[in-house]
Amino acid sequence: MDKKDIDWGDLGFGYIKTDKRFVSDFKDGKWDEGRLIEDENIVLNECAGVLQYAQTIFEGLKAYTTKSGKIVTFRPDLNGERLENSAKRLEMPVFPKERFIEAVLATIKANEAWVPPYGSGATLYVRPYMFGSNAVIGVKPADEYQFRIFTTPVGPYFKGGVKPLTIKVSDFDRAAPRGTGDIKAGLNYAMSLHPIVVAHEEGFAENMYLDAATRTKVEETGGANFIFVTKDKKIVTPKSDSILPSITKRSLLTVAKDYLGLEVIEREVLFSEIEEFAECGLCGTAAVISPVGKVNDHGREICFESGMESMGQICGKLRDTLTGIQLGEIEAPEGWIYPVE
Ligand SMILES: *Cc1c(COP(=O)(O)O)cnc(C)c1O
Repeated sequence: MDKKDIDWGDLGFGYIKTDKRFVSDFKDGKWDEGRLIEDENIVLNECAGVLQYAQTIFEGLKAYTTKSGKIVTFRPDLNGERLENSAKRLEMPVFPKERFIEAVLATIKANEAWVPPYGSGATLYVRPYMFGSNAVIGVKPADEYQFRIFTTPVGPYFKGGVKPLTIKVSDFDRAAPRGTGDIKAGLNYAMSLHPIVVAHEEGFAENMYLDAATRTKVEETGGANFIFVTKDKKIVTPKSDSILPSITKRSLLTVAKDYLGLEVIEREVLFSEIEEFAECGLCGTAAVISPVGKVNDHGREICFESGMESMGQICGKLRDTLTGIQLGEIEAPEGWIYPVE
């Protein structure tokens, strides 16, 4: 297999069409076998459920080339489980986790030539998703669905070094109590577009969302979970039913406990206490951890001890350990790494 002729180190985070994508259709109450196809376009009825009532959910994970040259992916079982939960909440049929894992591995295999080489910092981003595809005009779940997976190579998240971010406390809410904040659905992103455009216009990288009910507790950003490090090096992460359960965050908590010997505390985090923390990071598949240097609360600046020059020491260790595990440089906990063969 010859790799594609791409300047891997220069890639950004954008869509590039790769060779194959996986498609399975749900019709008459069941999923078909699924297939790998070449056509990247989808033809839909003008009244498709996804277009009218936003019945769509997704996942995001990556494939890596390890130090020994093998292609692997990271904890796809958890993405499969999360997609099952998202489907149930939006009255969509479950695409079984076992079939999900198989389809993810097959799609990566079919696009092997697009998996960036070890050492490039780039990865192959894998995007599974599902949507209601038949015509729906009265408000109800669709009867037919499509589950698809495409891949796209993405560049190193931090080109030219890691720069801590300045974020703002949003005046908008991301997720209601007992709403859909804990599932990975397009609808949670549609409503976050205006707040993020406003934040960018004001010069901030991200929004910190507070809990909608009391606006006193830290939830997450539009697409990443928070971790904080206390001055005595404990990891604290917000607990809430309206936060999306990040697989990166859950993995980092295990790394903190089992690899770095740090205490990990999942609890409600009051906004009023964040100035006590030494470090703050945003966790997600795209960047693993992005350091936050400053939070702007309506003009009042809350600065973390780690500063604006580099990533905090503990966040740096967490990030290096997890990326080391993903790239096969550090031994992984059992069941975390799935070889693509
Ligand atoms: C996807 C997502 C995350 C990050 O989850 P990972 O599984 O770590 O990629 C965090 N918050 C939201 C709202 C998300 O959609």
